[in-house]
Amino acid sequence: MSTLSSKVQEVFDEPACGKNQAKGEKERKKGCTKQLVPGAAAGGCAFDGAKIALQPITDVAHLVHGPIACEGNSWDNRGAKSSGSSLYRTGFTTDINELDVVYGGEKHLFKSVKEIFDKYDPAAVFVYQTCVTALIGDDIEAVCKAATQKFGKPVIPIDAPGFVGNKNLGNKLAGEALLDYVIGTEEPDTTTPYDINIIGEYNLAGELWQVKPLLDEMGVRILSCISGDAKYREVAYSHRAKAAMMVCSKAMINIARKMEERYEIPFFEGSFYGITDMSDSLRNIARLLVDKGAPADLLERTEAIIRREEAAFWVQMVPYKDRLKGVKVLLITGGVKSWSVVSALQEVGMEIVGTSVKKSTLEDKQKIKELMGEDAHMVDDMTPREMYKMLKDAEADIMLSGGRSQFIALKAKMPWLDINQERHHAYAGYDGMVTLVREIANALYNPIWEQVRKPAPWEMQGDKKLATENTEHTEVLLGGFRSVPSVASVV
Ligand code: SF4
Repeated sequence: MSTLSSKVQEVFDEPACGKNQAKGEKERKKGCTKQLVPGAAAGGCAFDGAKIALQPITDVAHLVHGPIACEGNSWDNRGAKSSGSSLYRTGFTTDINELDVVYGGEKHLFKSVKEIFDKYDPAAVFVYQTCVTALIGDDIEAVCKAATQKFGKPVIPIDAPGFVGNKNLGNKLAGEALLDYVIGTEEPDTTTPYDINIIGEYNLAGELWQVKPLLDEMGVRILSCISGDAKYREVAYSHRAKAAMMVCSKAMINIARKMEERYEIPFFEGSFYGITDMSDSLRNIARLLVDKGAPADLLERTEAIIRREEAAFWVQMVPYKDRLKGVKVLLITGGVKSWSVVSALQEVGMEIVGTSVKKSTLEDKQKIKELMGEDAHMVDDMTPREMYKMLKDAEADIMLSGGRSQFIALKAKMPWLDINQERHHAYAGYDGMVTLVREIANALYNPIWEQVRKPAPWEMQGDKKLATENTEHTEVLLGGFRSVPSVASVV
């Protein structure tokens, strides 16, 4: 069995993944990948997943070995923020051609690595395998080994070509590459009893920075965040942390579990979305650190901060509470965030009329059931037509989703808010929750909806009767605009 296939098999066998463990041995071997039908590669390939997981490491040059389209498709489409280097946002690719396919692209790759070191002097180069270069048999591992020796700096192979599976598998293979080549290779200057790792947090829109000030106040140090706003060296010495938090995602569970096994770093799964989850996460961080030997007064300090922050949050909620009470939300997210966003919205009085669970694990689904009850309207794969119908029939007042679904909401003339990776607002922690609530209120009460739902002037002038029959009008109700059947008052 090749190294790649054995790695993929190992990832499928992840003991900490409840979904995998619930399967029989035969099913588990088949893996989690559903074969995509041609033309429907929605959701991204394994290469894409690996790149997404590692790209937020900011002082690394991320070099894609393959045709330029692999890099071009996903280049800089996520809002991971950096407090230092911006090298991670530069797209590097070997852009292989027909001659490389015939003669092999390994020399080309080596020269590209040299060029990057000469021109940019990065802390390390990550080399990503893609379908074409894997199929022609380029051995990126051997090239990276030779380049590391030649240039004296780490050149790390990320072996997750697109064809091996989906984005989530790619996330995990990226984690395996960190475990094999990066984690444990350097030592921090100092360590403290308050050092933690945060795993699976990508600092999208700067969310990590909404949490960091509170951790600083508790006296807790983020030794390494994998991978939001991370530097190569921080990841390399992350094995010295005392505890770890895995941020509401199964994407990098293999890192958390293997670091517990190898370096005795206990971890818990938590979320920074919503007040209860945020407070629980701070409590769990403090508890794990105290269990590992930190002074016990950390627990009291943490409780004091939680009390202060929760009180301040509810004061800020006063102007929104009545406006958002009972607002019906259709939540279409990548799945991993579904339960944490559900609980966050419920806390401020909104009602979730449906949530997607396409990429959610069994535990995620269980948590949603606990939050929404047994009748929870969980949809595996809602078609655009179904989303449109729900919005048009006013079963939901607003849709929260990624950018791809926004046009469905706009076509239904209903409010929409971006909560996926391209978003421009940060929604983590107590401050982030205030921002989320404010953005939802802004979207719902935007006067544009009243305008776009009115018949166009030419429809009114030309044939008043036609306008009466064919249009709808809106009225402002508590909690947003809702469509109602047309009435004569339109004309
Ligand atoms: S790695 Fe393969 S599946 Fe992924 S973008 Fe490149 S060619 Fe497409």
